[in-house]
Amino acid sequence: MPVKQDSFSPEKKGFNDGGTTIQEDGPSPLGRHSFFKRILGQVLGTYILAESDDGLVLIDQHAAHERILYEQLIKRQASLETVSQDLIVPETLDLSARESDALSKILEELISFGFDIAPFGGSTYVIKAIPSIIDEKEAAPLIVDILENRIEEKNDFSKKDWLEQTLVTVSCHSALRANKPMNFQEMERLLTDLEHCKNALHCPHGRPTMVTLTKDRLEKLFKRVV
Ligand SMILES: [Zn+2]
Repeated sequence: MPVKQDSFSPEKKGFNDGGTTIQEDGPSPLGRHSFFKRILGQVLGTYILAESDDGLVLIDQHAAHERILYEQLIKRQASLETVSQDLIVPETLDLSARESDALSKILEELISFGFDIAPFGGSTYVIKAIPSIIDEKEAAPLIVDILENRIEEKNDFSKKDWLEQTLVTVSCHSALRANKPMNFQEMERLLTDLEHCKNALHCPHGRPTMVTLTKDRLEKLFKRVV
């Protein structure tokens, strides 16, 4: 798989092995060279099976895609480059009073992510545009999820935490689901994008994106060595 050399800058640090910390530019934890040697196929409609120098790798397609989207969102957010898509049919959001109150407090931030949401009288709002990575069908449930998170945070939330949590929620709603068949081209694209992530080993919730069955482990399992 081709790896663009310009995405790795050895002099910059910033790789963080867990959690949702917004990171500086840094090298991929998977190293400078193409990590995945060969894609073997999709298993259970949910995992990609691949070969690396270390052994056999199982990649969780949802967790991997979540990680890729999350890092793309961070980059866009940092560069204030938001890519929006207008909804052909604007979607109406009927909110509770608490949700409506929460929305008014975070409307500006949502606009900075690429949402266009306008009040429509009372606690009704209209979603006119959404960030381009989000599927139209996900727009309303995503907004409600973000508002519920905001309400749970009460008043002692920091803007940075809120931002991170919102980016995680957006990535989760936009990522490939389990039980989604993928062709080789789609799998190759996903793994190449994952190789370029700064924290390729974990999804933004902290779950692993991949599990490796090493050569040593296989040899032990088959009792080639004791
Ligand atoms: Zn996750």
